Amino acid sequence: MDAFSLSGNVGLVLGVANKRSLAWAIAAAAGRAGAAQALTFQSDRLEENVRTLAAELTDPLILPCDVSDDAQIDAVFAAIEARHGRLDFLVHGAAFAEREDLARPFVETSRQGFLKALDISAYSLVALARRAAPLMERNGGGSILTLTYLGSDRVFTNYNVMGVAKAALEASVRYLASELGPKNIRVNAISAGPVKTLAASGISGFSGILQAYRERAPLRRTVEGSEVGDAGLFLLSPAGRAITAEVLMVDAGFHAMGV
Ligand code: NAP
Repeated sequence: MDAFSLSGNVGLVLGVANKRSLAWAIAAAAGRAGAAQALTFQSDRLEENVRTLAAELTDPLILPCDVSDDAQIDAVFAAIEARHGRLDFLVHGAAFAEREDLARPFVETSRQGFLKALDISAYSLVALARRAAPLMERNGGGSILTLTYLGSDRVFTNYNVMGVAKAALEASVRYLASELGPKNIRVNAISAGPVKTLAASGISGFSGILQAYRERAPLRRTVEGSEVGDAGLFLLSPAGRAITAEVLMVDAGFHAMGV
C-alpha cells in the first residue's frame, strides 16, 4: 500500500481563490495522489480562476458555495452525492474578517464584524462536517482538514478578530474529532506559517510578520504553499490514519520560539 495514495478517493475543497491559495496547494497535492475532487468558489469573480486551476485535476466538479448560506452548502453535498455517492475528505480553507477589523484596535471590533468573522471562519467547519459525516461514514470513514494560524493562541498585531475566530476553529476541531472519531472520521488542522495569499494581503503589516519568521524561526525562513499542500496530503491520506484532533504546525518551527 502507498500510504500517501488517495486513489479512488473523492474530496471536497473550499477556499480556492487563486493559485496561491493554501486550499489549492492541498487540492493540487491530493490530485497528484489520485483523488477526484469538487472545488467551490464563493463569488462569480473567482469562478474563472477556480475552473482554470481545476483543469489540472481528475474529474473535477466546480460548485458555488458561500459558507454562510446553508442552502448553498446543502446543494454542494447533494451534487457530490449525485456525482460520486461518497466523500472521503473535506478541506476547509474559507476565512473572512472585515478589512477594518484587521487594521483598527481589537477593542473596536463591532458586534457584526465579530459575528461574521466567527460565522465564516469557524462555524462553517461545523456546518460542513455535519453534512460530510453521513457521506464519509458510508465508506468506513474520512478525513476533515482545516487551516488555522498561531494568532489563535498568541497576539499578532492586526490579526485581531481572526485570532479569536481561529481559537474557536481549533476548539471546533477537537469537539468534532471527539464526536466523529467513532465513525472513523478524523478532524485536524494545519497551522501554517505566513504565506502571501489574497487573504493575507488584508492583514496590515503582513510583510513585518514574514520578516519575523525569516529572522526567528528555527529554519530561518517562511513556508511555501506547496509545503502546506504536502502536509495536508499527509493528514488526508492513510499515512495520517492515527492522527485526529491535532493542530499540526507547518511553520518552519516559529511556534517554539520565545525570546
Ligand atoms: P485565500 O487564497 O484568500 O483563501 C481564502 C478563501 O476563503 C478565499 O477563497 C475566499 O473567497 C474564501 N472565503 C471567504 N469568505 C467565504 C465565504 N463566505 N464562503 C466561502 N468561501 C469564502 O487565502 P489563504 O491564505 O489561502 O487562506 C486559506 C486559509 O488558510 C484561511 O483559513 C486562512 O486563515 C488560513 N491561513 C492562512 C495563512 C497565510 O499566511 N496565508 C496562514 C495560516 C492560515 P473570496 O476570495 O471570494 O472571499
